[in-house]
Amino acid sequence: MREVGGHVSAAGGIELAIERGAEIGGNCVQVFSGSPRVWARPELSRFDAKKIAAKRAEKGIGSIITHSLYLVNLASENPELITKSMTALAFDLKFDAHISGNGVVVHVGSHKGAGWVACREEVRKHIQTLVDEAPEGATFLIENAASPNGKIGGKLEEVQWLINEIDSPKLGWCFDTCHAFTAGYGLGKSQPAGSALPRTAAEEIDHLGLWATLKCVHVNDSRDPFGSGRDRHENLGNGLIPPEDMEYFLNLPQLEHVPLILEVPGLEQLGPDAANITRLKKLIHEA
Ligand SMILES: [Zn+2]
Ligand SMILES: [Zn+2]
Repeated sequence: MREVGGHVSAAGGIELAIERGAEIGGNCVQVFSGSPRVWARPELSRFDAKKIAAKRAEKGIGSIITHSLYLVNLASENPELITKSMTALAFDLKFDAHISGNGVVVHVGSHKGAGWVACREEVRKHIQTLVDEAPEGATFLIENAASPNGKIGGKLEEVQWLINEIDSPKLGWCFDTCHAFTAGYGLGKSQPAGSALPRTAAEEIDHLGLWATLKCVHVNDSRDPFGSGRDRHENLGNGLIPPEDMEYFLNLPQLEHVPLILEVPGLEQLGPDAANITRLKKLIHEA
């Protein structure tokens, strides 16, 4: 059975997040280890790994993905922001190992126009340090970004460069369907006519040899058009990604064992819900 779930609130603890994830019909979840908008984190010992494991088994939850906080930027020119980002990510990697999780998804950051080539060595060095110092069982997952200009990972070859250079079993990546679509990678069988990029998402992942390190897919529809570079998620089927293209991508055999995680607004604007899980299950031919 495929893993399908949503990003859920971890208010009150990871056990409650697991319950929320199961409640909407998921068999995997994504959480924040604390508030995504503040740097402070609780003590790791506040998370009871045994209770989390018991709840996970009781509710039939497979993967638990952690999403790093939004403030992180590993390409910043501000040393204080780099230090804070490193501390936060080091915590999330320890958290991931502590709860026997399945990886920490990271928006690597933005170089604000300096250019990818100018900043990539710095970024590589920081990720290298993090994975070298991360405990066994932790995984750092680079997420592809919406905008090809400024945000790292807008081009999949940037993700590939970091993965190849660092070459660690503790490093992989996460593919977000909304980000790829607005970055200009078609999700269907062929690139839309007039596309700025030559290859579809699947063709580019093939071309770059990135299937083996792909550990998570964020399934989000897009409020903005193909190639727009914007990042506003929409409920499945209500956005601008052609449903047949989404269906094609999600049913690629390479994704069979990769957890599919919704980060959609939800019909009530309360986050991923049962309705979106049902739509996703229909798309992957698991009613
Ligand atoms: Zn995402
Ligand atoms: Zn996004």
